[in-house]
Amino acid sequence: MLITKFDPWKSEMCTCPQKYSLNPYTGCSHACIYCYISTYIRDPFHSRPKKDLVKEVEKELRKQKEEITFISLSNSSDPYPPEERKLGMTREVLNVLNDYSIPFHIVTKSDIVVRDYELIGKNVVSMTITEMDSKRIEPGAPATELRVKALKELSAHSIKCTLRLDPVIPWINDSYESIYSIIHSVCDYVEHVTSSTLKMREDSICRLEKIFPRIKWRALYTRRVGRSYYLQEQERLTLMQRVRDACDEHGLTFSCCREGFNINTGKSCDGSHLLGKGKCRDGEKCSDSGGK
Ligand code: SF4
Repeated sequence: MLITKFDPWKSEMCTCPQKYSLNPYTGCSHACIYCYISTYIRDPFHSRPKKDLVKEVEKELRKQKEEITFISLSNSSDPYPPEERKLGMTREVLNVLNDYSIPFHIVTKSDIVVRDYELIGKNVVSMTITEMDSKRIEPGAPATELRVKALKELSAHSIKCTLRLDPVIPWINDSYESIYSIIHSVCDYVEHVTSSTLKMREDSICRLEKIFPRIKWRALYTRRVGRSYYLQEQERLTLMQRVRDACDEHGLTFSCCREGFNINTGKSCDGSHLLGKGKCRDGEKCSDSGGK
């Protein structure tokens, strides 16, 4: 199955509304150093499209269209890796979702998403930004300035956007100055911010130990939740409160993701409350019914 119920490791801390997940690509060429897909995907940092993607998506939509609330693209890969420029697989999927009137929520780190603004219409785009200079931790992803520009362009097309400031990593991007500068750079283009502290798996700890050997990762990541390692609760709360303070200063709503804290000001944790609130695609009849 390509369209599956979103269920992040059956985490009791997940507060997401019921949604479905679809990854047009397997693997992800953005190669973020903290990424957890390397625990369950072979050749993780090389994007390749799913076999018979469009045909399979159509087949599955014919079967389960009625039960799908909305689809999140993507949770185990970026829907706009560099390969998408040439292959256009995500673009084809968006066309199919529109044919079946399925609301969707795009989560990406790429400015390629702007190419598809006409197909996005009243759906939502979440852009992930973690540092103003992202190359050291997200070597294969577009530069932050391109992501900010993409948000500006999407917002000029009346598309509802959110920022994912995720993950916040201790000693790397957790200072108030770093958090503030990211939020400040996009505050005119987004309505909501979702944030989360870095959760680690064994292989991501090993990767970070190699790249940042002076940071004592195992001393910081002592709490085990399922198969993930978390920072201690007080540390996580301090970091999330820091992001919320910067959001408050900019008049943006805030939610944290898989943290278990009651400090959210947004109506949903993932920004899906904005589905259906943007502008209709040209020629489409406008109603405010996105996100069923
Ligand atoms: S963009 Fe997302 S899926 Fe891709 S490597 Fe980075 S964290 Fe992993």
